[in-house]
Amino acid sequence: MRHCPERPMHLRQADPEIYALIQKQTRLESSTLKMIPSENFAQFAVLEATGSILTNKYAEGYPGGRYYEGNEVIDEIESLAVARAKALFGAEHANVQPYSGSPANQAAYRALGGPGCKIMGMPVPQGGHLTHGWGVNFSGTDYVQVPYGPNPHTGVLDYDQIRDTARRERPRMIWVGGTSYPRVFHYDRFAEIAREVDAYLVADIAHINGLIIAGVHPDPVPHCDVVTSTSHKMLRGPRAGFLLSRIEDRYQHKYFPQSKLNLAKRVDRAVFPMLQGGPHIHVIAAMAVAFKEATTSQFREYGRQIVANCRRLADGLMARGYRLASGGTDNHLLIMDFRDAPYTGKQVAKALASAGIICNFNMVPGDPRKPLVTSGVRMGTPALTSMGMKEPEMDLIAGWIDQVCRHMDRLDEIAGRIRAEIAELCSRFSIPGITEK
Ligand SMILES: *Cc1c(COP(=O)(O)O)cnc(C)c1O
Repeated sequence: MRHCPERPMHLRQADPEIYALIQKQTRLESSTLKMIPSENFAQFAVLEATGSILTNKYAEGYPGGRYYEGNEVIDEIESLAVARAKALFGAEHANVQPYSGSPANQAAYRALGGPGCKIMGMPVPQGGHLTHGWGVNFSGTDYVQVPYGPNPHTGVLDYDQIRDTARRERPRMIWVGGTSYPRVFHYDRFAEIAREVDAYLVADIAHINGLIIAGVHPDPVPHCDVVTSTSHKMLRGPRAGFLLSRIEDRYQHKYFPQSKLNLAKRVDRAVFPMLQGGPHIHVIAAMAVAFKEATTSQFREYGRQIVANCRRLADGLMARGYRLASGGTDNHLLIMDFRDAPYTGKQVAKALASAGIICNFNMVPGDPRKPLVTSGVRMGTPALTSMGMKEPEMDLIAGWIDQVCRHMDRLDEIAGRIRAEIAELCSRFSIPGITEK
């Protein structure tokens, strides 16, 4: 041998500037409380697959029908991801190519109806997602949103009201799911309503897929035509989206009488070639890794603990006199309600961040303040639960949140101390992808 081949150049040598910034972010995330409910820590194996050579391959099309050669192995990877998604959720069909949650939702729209269709969804200030018909998003400009949302007084969905709206408006699709609804979605009741008005029912489970897998929340799959999700939130996978659907369209005769494509085929066509080009195979491989992890009993225990932790945190805050939207939580998130407080949601979120508690300001049902200010603070437990935190840590965190809220006008006296205490707490836990054993 003439000389040893050089080892691949690591980021540290190739680009010290970016390397240093990633290190800086790693230190930040491992010494503060990651309480944004849509964030998490992906395990190292997921990061490894995402960072693999699969990033280099073009594979437009689907397994067995690609537009490029050399995709035999890639077909096996995508087929495995699809099979795992179907088995994990008990779905008839899965598409794992969407680049993220928003493109997955775009594909659901295109598979179920063209622009101009009427859809029901929750507006962003009421807990829905941008892609559920919000005005600045394609879903609000290309589709006609009929809004529904939690009752402003109770903070809980009122199914009689949803039924009345559906009967009056007769939408083509009803979207169920959200980003800041702390209660359970009853898919069976939505399905009854959808059937009554011949609407497709679409569940967007981006935030709560882990609770469904763990069996602590109802299963949307038997009740919905299409289910959309991300894989990077509770599922702890790579940044991506996926779709589940039935194979046959039960309204084919009504809405697509001319089409020879069943629902599964229309979903696939909507993703590629209608909306996307080449799939991100490195991400699809990482998604398969996450699906595998999600079949374990440890994952189901994690799903159960997320809710137990959130309930404990909610109890700790309510015991200290704080109001929560809807009066509590059934899932992974809660929203502190500061409508009666002299300070805004934004001020509290910034104060908490200065003490090492990272969450976000958020509208509460019936919020009189503007969306860039708000009266609420949204926080969640998935990432903390991934670190292994349990009820005793939630009690500590409720105490810290209370101290920050009681010292809003003299934060500099306490923020540094709390930040140090939080960094010490974090150092006692193993962080997936960062310090995992
Ligand atoms: C996060 C989220 C999405 C969109 O996901 P992106 O990956 O950010 O595009 C869609 N719907 C819901 C309910 C979400 O929480």
